[in-house]
Amino acid sequence: MSRVLLIGSINMDLVVEADSFPRQGETLFGRRFATYPGGKGANQAVAAARLGAEVSLIACVGQDAFGAELLAGLQAEGIDTRWVQQVAGATGMASITLAGGDNAIMVVPGANHAVSPAQLDAAEAAFAQADVVLAQLEVPLATVEHAAMLAARHGKPFILNPAPAQPLPAGLLQQVSLLTPNEYELAVALGSQQPWQQLLASRPAGIVMTQGSLGASYVDADGVLRQVRGFPVMAVDSTGAGDTFNGALAAFWSLGLAEAVRRANAAAALSVTRHGAQGGMPTLAALQQFLG
Ligand code: ATP
Repeated sequence: MSRVLLIGSINMDLVVEADSFPRQGETLFGRRFATYPGGKGANQAVAAARLGAEVSLIACVGQDAFGAELLAGLQAEGIDTRWVQQVAGATGMASITLAGGDNAIMVVPGANHAVSPAQLDAAEAAFAQADVVLAQLEVPLATVEHAAMLAARHGKPFILNPAPAQPLPAGLLQQVSLLTPNEYELAVALGSQQPWQQLLASRPAGIVMTQGSLGASYVDADGVLRQVRGFPVMAVDSTGAGDTFNGALAAFWSLGLAEAVRRANAAAALSVTRHGAQGGMPTLAALQQFLG
């Protein structure tokens, strides 16, 4: 099992269920309210840890009650949080309203914007100890670029989940060992409208594209397009499926790309059978049972 170093976001998701969305200036009563730990960095860290990886996380939370609660939750998952800083201001949050089968979401990055290149330098020992480094785009791009540089300096593979979608500088792309977009993120990241098959072929064994219930596709080192079919499951909540996929891919990195994708596809399928981003992430035992 791999030692995984995560660089990414930590959020508290504040979820309101209501019958309808309030109009501008209107006050409505909601039906239910709950908080859930989230943020792509934290979610992917939890996914990898549940699957038995040794996980360290470089991130920031605010000096507030959410920050303390989220840190405690990560530690309860066995994640090494010694590189997580508590900074002045608010912890990152997402305000989510669910009504009529639709949602409206407002994200305030808060402390996630404080994850800096200097913080990574202070944690360089973590790069030296890792087998694989994994990041997303919910912390500043300059920090992601610095993470890629430090991973390269220590000869460690760098997986980038380019979400939320944004164009990636050529210099960063050169240092990415594996890119893990969905179809939309792939086009935006590479700044190209070519068909996805051609984009995958432009980087053999360098891109795994997730495709929801269809599974995932990549072009292997021999130039062969591999389409890994999604597992047929009863999907109840796809939140966090991509995060489970990425955490699992890093956790199983040492098994090679084909096997890591096979297991990530299974772990992510399991995750959609239960509610919540982190709530549905399987343990290693559950994954082994599922794969038989
Ligand atoms: P999100 O941002 O909602 O997590 P995403 O676009 O990053 O989504 P998806 O491509 O939707 O990621 O899903 C990631 C992976 O999860 C897929 O590659 C697949 O392995 C698994 N998956 C998602 N939805 C399903 C489903 N309905 N049935 C089986 N597997 C699924």
